[in-house]
Amino acid sequence: MNKPNKNSVDGAHGMQENFKYFLNQSNSPFAILTSRDFIFTFANDAYIQLMNGRELIGKSLEEAIPELKGQAFISLLQKVFDTSVPYHVSEIAATALFSGDKEPTTRYFDLTYMPYKNPAGKTEGVLASGFDISEHVELRKKEKAQILNEQAYNLFMQAPVGFSLTMEKDHVLKLANDWGLKLAGKGPEIIGKKVADISGIETQGYIELLDRVFHTGEVINLKESPLTLIKNGKQETLYVNLVYQPYYEGQKIAGVLAISTDVTISVLAKKEAEELKERFETMANNIPNLAWIANADGWIFWYNSRWYEYTGTTPQDMEGWGWKSVHDQEKLPEVLEEWQQSIKSGQPFEMVFPILGSDKVFRPFLTRVVPVHNNEGKVIRWLGTNTDITKQKEIEQLKDNFLSTASHELKTPVTTIKAYAHILESLLTEKGDAQTLAMVKKMDTQVDRLTNLIEDLLDISRLQNGKLLYDESFYDFDVLVQEVVDDMQKTNITHKIIYDTHVEATVFGDRNKIIQVVNNLISNAIKYSPQQDEIVIKTSVTGEGVLLSVRDFGIGISKEEQKQVFEQFYRVTSGSQLTFPGMGIGLFICTEILKRQGGKIWVESLPGDGSVFYAWLPFDYRNPA
Ligand code: ADP
Repeated sequence: MNKPNKNSVDGAHGMQENFKYFLNQSNSPFAILTSRDFIFTFANDAYIQLMNGRELIGKSLEEAIPELKGQAFISLLQKVFDTSVPYHVSEIAATALFSGDKEPTTRYFDLTYMPYKNPAGKTEGVLASGFDISEHVELRKKEKAQILNEQAYNLFMQAPVGFSLTMEKDHVLKLANDWGLKLAGKGPEIIGKKVADISGIETQGYIELLDRVFHTGEVINLKESPLTLIKNGKQETLYVNLVYQPYYEGQKIAGVLAISTDVTISVLAKKEAEELKERFETMANNIPNLAWIANADGWIFWYNSRWYEYTGTTPQDMEGWGWKSVHDQEKLPEVLEEWQQSIKSGQPFEMVFPILGSDKVFRPFLTRVVPVHNNEGKVIRWLGTNTDITKQKEIEQLKDNFLSTASHELKTPVTTIKAYAHILESLLTEKGDAQTLAMVKKMDTQVDRLTNLIEDLLDISRLQNGKLLYDESFYDFDVLVQEVVDDMQKTNITHKIIYDTHVEATVFGDRNKIIQVVNNLISNAIKYSPQQDEIVIKTSVTGEGVLLSVRDFGIGISKEEQKQVFEQFYRVTSGSQLTFPGMGIGLFICTEILKRQGGKIWVESLPGDGSVFYAWLPFDYRNPA
């Protein structure tokens, strides 16, 4: 058995003293709290010192350190006592009157509460030990604050907004971030200078503003303010949004804080857009046409001043669909339908219709509307113009009247010439003068051409006056086509007219006028394919009607002109076309005749390859399917 050493003390009392000695050596506070009232039965020197040397032994925790009331400690101790489970926590804050303090302060502890039990295993009290880590916590807090400060400073220096701080009544520039310096076109050498001494700024009223903020404490907000600076040796005008606000030290205004953003690009863009708009409006208001702009859905939001002058309306009257009020109510449904069609399809709109003037007179206007697309090809607006065509219409009328009178006047002498030609032919035949007879026959053919021409012209004026008469009955369509083909083939030796698809169909309408149509299509096919020798005619039953096609292999018609060739007096004038004789009225008359009998006409063609003209007629236009 080992012999006890010299420092060991015999007996229980000795043991306790020994234990106390060790506990007092420790510089972390330690105490024994007995019973659920937590009576101090022991506290080491470190504990007593921490608690300002106050009397602890024999007192309950609440009595001894009353400042702890309301803090977590008593309930934590109770929990340890009741559950016998040790409790440990780091960095718990305790507010009390600690050593060396006159007032309660907060300190931080790593705290351990350990239950202690009697030999029977029952919890009798709690051993409390705490290690004061306040210094460590304070240091960390300071470090954190410093890091935050540094971050804030960096943020301030790098922000894409100009910050500057001027101090005192002379506005000495104390601080300016990179953006602020860049904005001013200066380097860090201006820091420490009075603003008045920084070249270029003093004349622009900014110093007076700094004075105002410094002396009155007012916050000044400037929007898109021009600022002229010398940047890289060049004078430059910037636009800035600027806030000047007082910078306080305590209650006193010590300087002025300026926050500025460069808005030059957006200001210049806005100015340019305004200028452009002004230029556009000046132009649009000075053209002789009426003009307007609509949204993609057709809502008109702008008219030029000519529109208001002519119609005598106001913007309020006209907004959106208000324009309907200056339209001829009879024509309006047709206009609306075509316009809606364009809005739906995104295709340009073109139409002639009357518009009511402020003098209550309707005048004809040619209206053209073109879509404006965005980058993705979507319609974003419509630009419309209305051109007064009263003058053109008057001239057209005069021309029509002249043609009508002239062709009437020509008809009688030409008929007389034809009659005399026939008499001459008989006389010469009797006389046996073959040479003169041949000449008179040629003259007769030319008189026939002249008669046809006059007939066409008369048809046009009859069409215009609604006086073209129709003599209607049922007829066999196939027989009609065959007849025309045979007739044409007789007088034509250059082309073979092929017709071998026969239809069985009876059609109701004016047989002679349809003969005129088929005649015209075959004559054109022959005329416009001089280098070729074949024309192909086809007929078929299509839908509730008959379809005729006349194909040639001649010069063809370009895509752009395919629609126009059906217009009155329209002739293709490009390339070799001019060399063909004609007046541009045949197809117009065909179109009108077919339209009147519920039919239609169209063309498919490739320049150089030839054309196919189609004419479709319903069996009986009076009973549409
Ligand atoms: P025109 O008397 O001038 O032939 P039309 O009204 O019959 O008058 O035709 C109008 C225009 O259409 C013609 O001038 C011509 O340019 C063009 N055209 C008509 N038919 C054909 C065709 N088969 N091939 C090519 N061009 C044609």
